[in-house]
Parts: sequence; structure tokens; C-alpha cells
Amino acid sequence: MTARILDGIKIRDEIFAELRGEVAQLVAQGVRPGLAAVLVGENPASQLYVKSKIAACEQLGIASWLHSPPAGITTEYMLQLVSDLNNDDHVDGILVQLPLPSQVDSKRVLEAVSPAKDVDGFHPVNLGRLVSNRPGLVACTPAGCMEILRRNHIAVEGANGVVVGRSDIVGKPMALLLLHANATVTICHSKSRDLAEIIRRADILVAAIGRAGFVQPHWIKPGAAVIDVGTNKVADAAEAHRLLANFPHRLEAFRAKGSVLIGDVHPDALNTAGALTPVPGGVGPMTITMLMSNTVKAAKLRRLSRSEPAAVAR
Ligand code: NAP
Repeated sequence: MTARILDGIKIRDEIFAELRGEVAQLVAQGVRPGLAAVLVGENPASQLYVKSKIAACEQLGIASWLHSPPAGITTEYMLQLVSDLNNDDHVDGILVQLPLPSQVDSKRVLEAVSPAKDVDGFHPVNLGRLVSNRPGLVACTPAGCMEILRRNHIAVEGANGVVVGRSDIVGKPMALLLLHANATVTICHSKSRDLAEIIRRADILVAAIGRAGFVQPHWIKPGAAVIDVGTNKVADAAEAHRLLANFPHRLEAFRAKGSVLIGDVHPDALNTAGALTPVPGGVGPMTITMLMSNTVKAAKLRRLSRSEPAAVAR
């Protein structure tokens, strides 16, 4: 069996086309959605992430602002900046790029973001809304995984869903979203016993662990849908050869580049799973996509609902 590839780039393009239309409609109503990004210091990976988020805003007609205070910033400065952005009516979404420097109290800063502008879905108020299945802003990566399932017509209701990983930004919200879609959900973590046995029961498996090729192909129930959230950079030649023995073209690319991106699921799962997100090109593109979607949603909820509360659905 060769798994159906769940192409995140194709879904990103579909959602971008829809969002372009929604943004144009909002602009016609006098509301231009806007995202303010806060990038502290000069971490190259963070710079790259923020750059692609701002580029996505530009593609969709969403306004964007970049605030880039120096690495030596204090918590108080960050709190003031967040407060200014909370009070700026043109700003619908506030994105604080993590990690923040160690002297800054990240938790305090993130909790200072108005829940109405928390497009990352990290604020405890939004997490609470998710727990009780009420409308709110949902963390982008798990929301993107649900879109992958939905747009590929993978039935969630009644399915056994297994989520490996229990982080606040991926595993826990993912498990809640599957639960609200009526899956029977099991959450696993580093202390779980008989992991392979639990995974074998999954009709839908979500791996969000952070270990390259950790989930073995024979742990996966034949035909299961596998969402691989992991993005692990492998630079060790022996490890790359072990993981990619059956993918000569990817090994060639590894030799040329010196590294390769591998998910948390062993690439050979392609022969066991019924459907599988590739790494790269699966969940990755969905995270920025859902950030854009959350920004448009936040604009509608905050600005349109002032005059017509029933107009904004979840
Ligand atoms: P995290 O905060 O480090 O959490 C990892 C989770 O995996 C923890 O709950 C941990 O269990 C569990 N775990 C670790 N080793 C395990 C093992 N041997 N068996 C079972 N569970 C184990 O990571 P995260 O932020 O959720 O991210 C997970 C992965 O997704 C990473 O590869 C990350 O790069 C990737 N990611 C990708 C995107 C994207 O856009 N594609 C976005 C976010 C994250 P404990 O709780 O017991 O420690």
C-alpha cells in the first residue's frame, strides 16, 4: 500500500484564495485586517519565520507592521508595546515571535496580549474557550491539521484518534479539536507505556514529538491517516541513511545540502498508512495559513460584530 499524500501546499493555496476574497470583502466594508509582528533581537530562524508571515500578509492584502526591539529589551518595555498594540484599532492580530530573550518574562508578555487579538491562540482565555468548545482563536498548527483532515474528507467522527505529544501549542489543542469533532481521543507522552500498542489502534494518528522518524511504520494500523507535525533537521549522514534508505532521491538531496527535514514519523510509513502528510510540505505550510485565517477571523469578530453580532460565525 502506498499512502495518499495529504498535500499542505495545495490546501494552503485553496485557503489563501478564499482569504483573498474575504479580505477584499472586508476592505469594501471599510475594515482592512492587520497583523502586528513583534520580533525581538536578531535570531536568524525567527527573522525568517516573521519574514514569511509578513510576506503572506502582503499576498492576501492584510496590513502588517513589524516591531523589532533590540535583544536587550525589558519585560516592562514589551508589556508597554503589547498594550499599545492592544489599543490600536487597526491591529487585529498580535504576533509575538518566540523565543523571547531570557530576561523577558514570556508568559507575562503573552498573557498581556488581548484575547481578541491573540491570533496564535496561546492566551489562557482562548485555551479555556477551546476546552469548552466555544468560539475563539485556536492555535495555528492544530487548526491546520484539522483543515488537512477536513479538506481531504477524512472522517473524524467515531474514529480512534491518537495524539503523541502534549505540548500546550500542538498536542493538547489538537486532542481537544479531535474530541470536539467526535473522535475517541488518546493522548500519549514520554511516560506513556506500550506506545506502539496505543498507536496501532489509531485510525487517525497525530505525531508532535520532536524526534526524527520516531514512529515506526509497523506501529501504524494499515490504512490509518497520519498527520506528521514534526520538523526535525537531520544533518548526521548515518541517521539520514538509516531513515531514507528507501528514498534515494531524498538521500541525493541530503548529500547536496548537508541536511534534510524529517518528520516524527519514519518515512517508510508511506507503505503502511492510508494517508500521510509529507515533511516538508504537509503541516508546515498550514501554520502560517491558519495565522492568516485567524487574523481575518479576529478582524471580523472584533470589528464587524460591533454592529452586527450575528454576522460572524465560528
Ligand atoms: P514539545 O513542546 O517539545 O513537546 C513534545 C512532546 O512530545 C511532549 O509532550 C513530550 O512528552 C513528547 N515526547 C517526547 N519524547 C517522547 C517519546 N519518546 N514518546 C512519547 N512522547 C514523547 O514540542 P512541540 O512544540 O509540541 O512540537 C513537536 C514537534 O512538532 C517538533 O518537531 C516541532 O518542531 C514540530 N512543530 C512543527 C510545527 C509546524 O508548523 N510544522 C509547529 C509546531 C511544532 P512529555 O510531555 O512527557 O515531555
